[in-house]
Amino acid sequence: MAVDYEKDASVNNLRNFLRIRSVHPNIDYAECLTYLRGQASELGLPVQVFEPVAKKPILVMTWEGLEPTLPSILLNSHMDVVPVFEKSWTYPPFEARLVDGVIYGRGVQDMKAVGVMYLEAVKRLKSKGLRFKRTIHLSFVPDEEVGGLKGMGEFVKTEDFKRLNVGFSLDEGLASAGEDYHVYNAERSIWHMTVICPGKSGHGSLLLPDNNGEKIRYIIDKFMDLRQESKNKLKADSSLTIGDVTTVNLTMLHGGIQNNVIPEKLTVSFDLRLATSVDHQEFENMIKRWCSEAGANLSYEFDQKDPYVGPTKVDDSNRFWVAFKGAFDKLKLPLKTRTFPGGTDSRYIREKGIPALGITPFALTHPQIHEQDESLRVEAFLRGITIYEEVIPALANVKHD
Ligand code: ZN
Repeated sequence: MAVDYEKDASVNNLRNFLRIRSVHPNIDYAECLTYLRGQASELGLPVQVFEPVAKKPILVMTWEGLEPTLPSILLNSHMDVVPVFEKSWTYPPFEARLVDGVIYGRGVQDMKAVGVMYLEAVKRLKSKGLRFKRTIHLSFVPDEEVGGLKGMGEFVKTEDFKRLNVGFSLDEGLASAGEDYHVYNAERSIWHMTVICPGKSGHGSLLLPDNNGEKIRYIIDKFMDLRQESKNKLKADSSLTIGDVTTVNLTMLHGGIQNNVIPEKLTVSFDLRLATSVDHQEFENMIKRWCSEAGANLSYEFDQKDPYVGPTKVDDSNRFWVAFKGAFDKLKLPLKTRTFPGGTDSRYIREKGIPALGITPFALTHPQIHEQDESLRVEAFLRGITIYEEVIPALANVKHD
């Protein structure tokens, strides 16, 4: 007979969180805050709510450590989820249906289950009467799915964040389809840019000089050559993953008014994700050079230009890493280190010089973030709680120098 998860308190906790429609756009976070305040009072933890940007609340629960002056451990998760195409779902995305040991719901992988696993692990550790050296903060942040600028991005700049005295942070990663668990210690830098190609406008029957069609072709060729290089690299070395190479995608093309008129300008936009090995200045110089090679008066602009953020060290020099890895070793769980392919709130933390790891501790689980029918096996969720029961004490007991 199948296990009856309907009565499992931690499962119900997760399902209740999933039923809150904290879905973009224009999220009202009030219901999330009510839910989380309830969780905190059950745990007996004090709550602070910060609002560095109006209507974008950040809720922090705090479990004070035995040596509260030591830098703290931050367990971060985001409350928001991406939109759904409701008609494409087998089960309604905000009802958290439990079918044959699987929970279906928007955000179950990304990343409400992670937030609830932190809560459940802390609940169990507290109920055993345990205390740890370092203070543990659980933060629940808004708007990660729209870049996090108004959430964690603003929060890290505040005095309130500074007062949390964070020494190490955990945040989301990705589920792993195989037996290994994946931990992410770095992210690529996102550059969203547009190249503007001006030229001589005129009649479409002529071969006028200073032609923007020729210019934009040169630029697109250069970027697509770079794209091919990355594809070749991935193909040549099976140990590489998408996060290890620079990705290039042409995302927008604009220009023109009528089919027999050469326009005054054409523009092309690219989504670039720079591998952590890329020198940003050299990379931009290369683009500058391409623009001058393409012809007269080309320019470029950035919609987003992330700075270089160094990876979190995964060697003996980082005691938090040693503790984290030790917990996985103790549980005999295989762990692989990766660079995250997209962006998470960890980049704001790392930018502050604070070590941060991203993990969504589900193995044998197909990553389904942002997909329809997003789902999670209850077994993976329950296993995840036991993993945090090992990881959290290890991190919170890391000794000071
Ligand atoms: Zn996420």
